Amino acid sequence: MSTEQQHAIPSYLNADHLGPWGTYLQQIDRVAPYLDAHLQRWIETLKRPKRALIVDVPIHLDNGTVKHFEGYRVQHNTSRGPGKGGLRYHQDVTLSEVMALAAWMSIKNAAVNVPYGGAKGGVRVDPRQLSLSELERMTRRYTSEINVIIGPNSDIPAPDVNTNEQVMAWMMDTYSMNLGHSATGVVTGKPISLGGSLGRREATGRGVYVIACEAARQINVEIEGARIAVQGFGNVGGTAARLFAENGAKVVTVQDHTGTIMSLGGLDTVALTKHVAETGGVAGFPGAEKIPDADFWAIETEFLIPAALEGQINEHNASKIRTRIVVEGANGPTTPEADDLLREHNILVIPDVIANAGGVTVSYFEWVQDFSSFFWTEEEINQRLDRVMREAFAGIWLVAQEKNVSVRTAAFIVACTRILTARDVRGLYP
Ligand code: NAD
Repeated sequence: MSTEQQHAIPSYLNADHLGPWGTYLQQIDRVAPYLDAHLQRWIETLKRPKRALIVDVPIHLDNGTVKHFEGYRVQHNTSRGPGKGGLRYHQDVTLSEVMALAAWMSIKNAAVNVPYGGAKGGVRVDPRQLSLSELERMTRRYTSEINVIIGPNSDIPAPDVNTNEQVMAWMMDTYSMNLGHSATGVVTGKPISLGGSLGRREATGRGVYVIACEAARQINVEIEGARIAVQGFGNVGGTAARLFAENGAKVVTVQDHTGTIMSLGGLDTVALTKHVAETGGVAGFPGAEKIPDADFWAIETEFLIPAALEGQINEHNASKIRTRIVVEGANGPTTPEADDLLREHNILVIPDVIANAGGVTVSYFEWVQDFSSFFWTEEEINQRLDRVMREAFAGIWLVAQEKNVSVRTAAFIVACTRILTARDVRGLYP
């Protein structure tokens, strides 16, 4: 990069930036040489968010005092359609993390070819410290603050870490109250009673399982009897774990924010789901051995499913991992250094942008159903989901073989080509 170009880029947009945004920029640098020359000239488009909003979210706590939270909504790219991406509540959320998550949504939506750009939101809060009514007030105030840039045709939030159907219902209601009429299509992942879609709650975990099966077929790994490690036992990890277990695999270890448990004979994933719902985490699950968190990575398995937060597989633990296939349920769980180490050890990595795209695919179905006010059966939804996921995987796998690149780079080649082709034909305004 020339000095002139370096000076033109603010430090927070630089690839040396640590954390998820730096990871994303390195991924773009890796894919750039594989793009057609006429698209390469647009690559800078992908290295900056289109729009980033920081909002102050003040609320009355139950004890009468006022507390301020910082919230974000980032629209990374809207060349192919409205912004689309989840809303995260977490005490460590930062603007640069939300920028990365928004950018991965642009790539993901293009990788599975749903007609959306990429967006993401976050509030820097530990929601476990708030009462239900405080959480509702915070959600409503945050929604009002980002009201200026969201909408069914402009940017459509959905659940992510620590947000759920109830949070989406409050967002939909707040947006609709400001508008003067009900706008169900402003968020997805809503309760069924409010225009939500059958199958949405399980869609991301289901997609992880479907893609894991496709990847396993390519390298002759059997699901029956396979050993599975899952990090994160929430919406994504919990659903994926149950599907693996239902289909004859053994979930041998699970880690979440409360600790790590192991049972080499296989954990009862249904009972574990109940335990997590009752106690808030996997710790203390009867019949399982508690092990140190660091030991999780070295347990021998056929599938490792990171389904918690970013940067969990990194240069410190990647060399310890003993598995055949990593299926990224979480967004950005593997750093570029770890990606290289896993490839050296012949471990297949199925990247987030395809592995966890089931959620946004059924979110797309939900949005389409809301617009047409015509709702599909769960069977129709699951069939369409499976087809979209399998076709996307097949196309990306082919590119990986043809160009002898990782599945991640192949997914980025497919996605960036779609985004930048749209950019190219649209041209620049004015
Ligand atoms: P969730 O809130 O339902 O669950 C998060 C899980 O991560 C919990 O089990 C929690 O205990 C665990 N966790 C948190 N911090 C941890 C830590 N430090 N170490 C180990 N475990 C930890 O969230 P979710 O919706 O299942 O999302 C999980 C991941 O999947 C995120 O990366 C999210 O962006 C991604 N994702 C979610 C969806 C979706 O539809 N919900 C779609 C695509 C991607």
